[in-house]
Amino acid sequence: MKILVLPGDGIGPEITDATLTVLKAADAALGLGLEFESQDIGLVTLKAVGTTLPPAVMTRIPEVDGVILGPVSHYEYPTRDKGGINPSGELRVVFELYANVRPCRSRAELSILRKPMDLIIVRENTEGFYSDRNMFAGSGEFMPDPDMALSIRKITSKGSSRIARAAFEIARGRGKKVTAVHKANVVKLSDGLFLREVRKVAAEYPDVQLEELIVDAAAALLIRRPDSFDVIVTTNMFGDILSDEASELCGSLGLGGSINAGDDICVAQAQHGSAPDIAGRGIANPTSLILSTAMLLDWRGRRDGNEKLIAAGALIENAVEKALENPQTRTGDVGGKLDTTSFAAAVCDLIRATAPVAA
Ligand code: NAD
Repeated sequence: MKILVLPGDGIGPEITDATLTVLKAADAALGLGLEFESQDIGLVTLKAVGTTLPPAVMTRIPEVDGVILGPVSHYEYPTRDKGGINPSGELRVVFELYANVRPCRSRAELSILRKPMDLIIVRENTEGFYSDRNMFAGSGEFMPDPDMALSIRKITSKGSSRIARAAFEIARGRGKKVTAVHKANVVKLSDGLFLREVRKVAAEYPDVQLEELIVDAAAALLIRRPDSFDVIVTTNMFGDILSDEASELCGSLGLGGSINAGDDICVAQAQHGSAPDIAGRGIANPTSLILSTAMLLDWRGRRDGNEKLIAAGALIENAVEKALENPQTRTGDVGGKLDTTSFAAAVCDLIRATAPVAA
């Protein structure tokens, strides 16, 4: 499996290094035949070649079997005409990575919740309120005069239908419940269209229950009854916000894995941003990117019928869970003492200790 690694900005290079250490341990244990290549993006290439996303990166992505994308500091980027392209948004739109899949599971001791949470947020990833990327040409945001700014939210039947299908497929393999989160009481046309498509898809999955919740209530109920959720399907921005809430309720933004998946391409990307406030100090929690990468191996394994990759995803996830269970092997954001590198080393030890012995 060829993996393209894009370390990104801020804590990106630190958590990417840690993730690669873990992947190499899994490769050594299971003989996966992983091949890595790395390309710079972000502030480094903006300085060196005038763009945050060199064209060579975009050319290479469809040629590899998976991508690991570190977080990027796109809030600091200049406008597109000055070289500031948000790699995260660009990859999702250009390669139609329409499903952002974000599992959130609470762990005893780390979660602030009174009841357990084990859910997957399936977030539409290519349209919605993301005006920097939701138009074919130009921007979905503009200023008719200096004192007025307008942003357009785009919802399509195609986008809604395919994300609903992704959610129902996932729900079929687990708790058999999908909660559609919307604001159709206010944005009646656009979220009305979203709900119409979700209901159509739901009719094809009689074994999966459909629940509908207004987003503000959903934000509250994630805290009050987290155990009642299985799969949440929602539009782009609601999914972004609710998944940060869910991750933090589970213990830390640094804990949640995440993939951006289309029909043919999958990009592993941490749920959180580039955390410039802690960048360069070696204290970031790499769990989110490590778990995202485990999800990437699982996605590729299922697509290609490669049992070893599926087993590697499970091996890595299990090792991370074991590391998080032990107060001695936690990073600072979840009350531990380990730095980024030592946490990765602890996960590698657990991979070696739990990997099946070769026949
Ligand atoms: P952030 O997610 O980077 O950080 C929020 C808080 O969580 C910070 O206090 C940070 O230190 C902490 N945090 C985040 N990840 C952590 C980890 N792995 N370990 C420990 N603590 C962690 O959000 P922000 O500060 O609002 O954004 C910073 C930059 O990241 C901005 O430029 C923003 O545009 C960008 N961003 C990028 C992505 C992405 O690449 N997918 C996503 C969100 C934000």
